[in-house]
Amino acid sequence: MARTRRIALIGGGIGGITAAIALRQRGFEVSVHEQSPELAEVGAGLQLGPNAVKVYRALGMEDDLRKIGGQPVNALTLNWTDNTPLARGNMRDGMIAQFGAPYYNVHRADMLHLIARAIPESCLHLGKRCLGVNAKGSARFADGSEIEADIVIGSDGVRSMVRTSLFGAEAPRYTGMECWRATLPVEKVTQRGFGNGETFTTDDAVNWLGPMGRVVCYPISGGKIFNIFCGHVGAQWTDESWTIPSSLDEVLAAYQGYHETMLAMFHQVDPRQWFKWGVFDRDPLPRWNVGHVTLLGDAAHPMPPTLAQGAAMAIEDAYALARCLAERDDMHEGLRQYEAERLPHTTRAQLQAREQFELNQSVPPKPRASRDWMFAHDVTRTAPPSAESTGKHYDSGEEV
Ligand SMILES: Cc1cc2nc3c(=O)[nH]c(=O)nc-3n(C[C@H](O)[C@H](O)[C@H](O)COP(=O)(O)OP(=O)(O)OC[C@H]3O[C@@H](n4cnc5c(N)ncnc54)[C@H](O)[C@@H]3O)c2cc1C
Repeated sequence: MARTRRIALIGGGIGGITAAIALRQRGFEVSVHEQSPELAEVGAGLQLGPNAVKVYRALGMEDDLRKIGGQPVNALTLNWTDNTPLARGNMRDGMIAQFGAPYYNVHRADMLHLIARAIPESCLHLGKRCLGVNAKGSARFADGSEIEADIVIGSDGVRSMVRTSLFGAEAPRYTGMECWRATLPVEKVTQRGFGNGETFTTDDAVNWLGPMGRVVCYPISGGKIFNIFCGHVGAQWTDESWTIPSSLDEVLAAYQGYHETMLAMFHQVDPRQWFKWGVFDRDPLPRWNVGHVTLLGDAAHPMPPTLAQGAAMAIEDAYALARCLAERDDMHEGLRQYEAERLPHTTRAQLQAREQFELNQSVPPKPRASRDWMFAHDVTRTAPPSAESTGKHYDSGEEV
């Protein structure tokens, strides 16, 4: 009888842990090697499009996801200066009807805890900072230890050490986007008027779009918390740290001229909660596999968060990798199938995410390019359609 294949994941983020679940369900022996002393995520929201939800459905986790996820009712895009609606769509029934699965918003920490509970603790090796891998299937760690596996997967994020080992050191690219993230209790969102006397509720996803960027707000934590993401056009990022404490004054200065409904919400955030990020990505790679090693998630295809699809793509990779390896007796064939199926799909998403950042800055604002081709994809059933089929131009979540 054939020996059970050993698969080592470097990095225990949402992509790595989801891959561990999917691979274990297919009968592989899995270990996850995470640099942090504990599994942790930033205190912010994460949008999970229907394509990501289909993966957790296939893994038998949709009921758990529903418990931690909120489904926004409407998506509203408002003009930055006069607060009039530029676009609106139904996120709840519309998503299920069109794409066969809901659109959930979750707290990142809730999500990581949920998926971590689905693997045994014995799989997880914390405090293991990978220094490099060998294409024959070994990995070295900062504590002096080393492991060998049949396949090593770099799920270690945008600053991936595995990627550097395979393809050489190359600094990530500053996207031109700086961002702030904050949360506040929904009852503190007191100004909710827009347009001609309408009001939004904190069950809605609300965006303000202007030439200096998009501000995206949506409910998380069962509707108790409103998540704020500010993606702002920023000068060259010079700070060494990618996460630096910021202040209300700094955010207000960045969004001068934006509508007071949005700015009033900023005033309600606990001032110690403002943190600032520089958003980095990388150019698409022509390949991910070298010998017994491959990449997954942000390690393979980091993208700006303009489509809210980076984690969704990592989640799809995780499922596709497990399926491809399980379908082929020859693991190299399985890795080839994985790369052939996923690389064109994620490359298209990376390039669209960059273009969207440019589109967001148009005056007057332009409608968002369609994400329907991503939402419609079901990685649990099929390979992605060819990149030529572009779908509708407008985004389903936001029809004018
Ligand atoms: C502001 C912002 C908002 C976003 N919003 C969304 C959204 O709404 N929806 C969405 O789908 N995507 C979103 N994204 C993208 C999403 O966050 C990422 O695509 C996703 O987290 C990638 O998951 P990952 O597991 O590949 O990498 P990561 O989440 O980065 O996890 C990598 C893990 O590897 C570990 N690691 C790193 N180096 C090493 C090493 N040398 N050795 C061992 N372990 C290591 C890290 O500690 C970490 O735990 C957003 C991104 C940003 C910046």
